Amino acid sequence: MIIVMKGPATESDIQSVIDKIRHAGLTEHVSRGTERTIIGAVGDERSLSPEMFELMPGVERAMRVLKDYRIVARDVHPANTVVHVRGLAIGGPELQIFAGPAAVESAVQMDAAAAIVKQTGARLLCGGAFKPRTSPYAFQGLGMEGLELLRDSARGQGLPMVTELLDVRQLEAFLEYDVDVIQIGARNMQNIGLLKEVGRINKPVILKRGLSATLNEWLTAAEYIAAGGNHNIIFCERGIRSFEPSYRNTLDISAIPVLKRETHLPVIVDPCHSGGKAWMAPALAKASLAAGADGLLLEVHPEPASALCDGDQALSPDEFQQLMTELSSLAAALGRPLA
Ligand code: PEP
Ligand code: MN
Repeated sequence: MIIVMKGPATESDIQSVIDKIRHAGLTEHVSRGTERTIIGAVGDERSLSPEMFELMPGVERAMRVLKDYRIVARDVHPANTVVHVRGLAIGGPELQIFAGPAAVESAVQMDAAAAIVKQTGARLLCGGAFKPRTSPYAFQGLGMEGLELLRDSARGQGLPMVTELLDVRQLEAFLEYDVDVIQIGARNMQNIGLLKEVGRINKPVILKRGLSATLNEWLTAAEYIAAGGNHNIIFCERGIRSFEPSYRNTLDISAIPVLKRETHLPVIVDPCHSGGKAWMAPALAKASLAAGADGLLLEVHPEPASALCDGDQALSPDEFQQLMTELSSLAAALGRPLA
């Protein structure tokens, strides 16, 4: 922690800061400039907070030197972490495609979706059983029945299943159904109780970026999961709120290289929620892989026009097949096999 004193700070103000640092078990390093005195608190600064000093007389501001996240930081773990899901490697050289409808609607719909996912070479089947809708009157998902349908379709095709956990009370069922990857959605990125619970289990977690979350907040949210012992975390950029109404969210392409630099964990992108329109998804998907994403989470529906949730951003089977073909060429150019 660095504490910057005000110009007119007195010796007694400086001494009070030093006393507080020592009282916390750290030592001080005092640097007296011509206009300002700067005090460094040397030692484990986690027991300190800037507010402890900023309220003291003579203190201008205090700031941390260390980041809020450690386990997820590349500083402490330089090599890429590869998250394994039923034999698939996420975050390794191979690019992985997660795909499926926004919501599980019926056995017929899920079987058709699973067949498309399997045929096109995507490797993980997604489907929401518990949906976080903006309106309480919109389709909320089939709940437990949806979980069962997702499991049956996924297992039928030998695909791992991915679904969103909305509430800690659903976790037991998720474990019982052996959900392979648990998704924490944008609206729950800072649901601390939920993060702590998935931190205690040994299942890969996709942590989507909050609607207006900074990268620091996102990384720190992941640290909650990692701090519980679960290091199998996959970041998913899904677009953020901006002033531009032409698309549902603004895909933050810059977040990809920054995240890849800041963390050793895999980073994937959801281009469907970013653009909010199926026609935009291919361009955003390609841009994401080109920017260094380790994979994509794509919405595909056997019949988008009749989807109960997010139909306008779901790719049709033909569009999905076409995109997968285009992605293979891109993957080859990037030197990363499309698994
Ligand atoms: C979803 O993936 O269906 C979803 C609700 O996404 P997000 O949390 O990114 O809005
Ligand atoms: Mn959706």
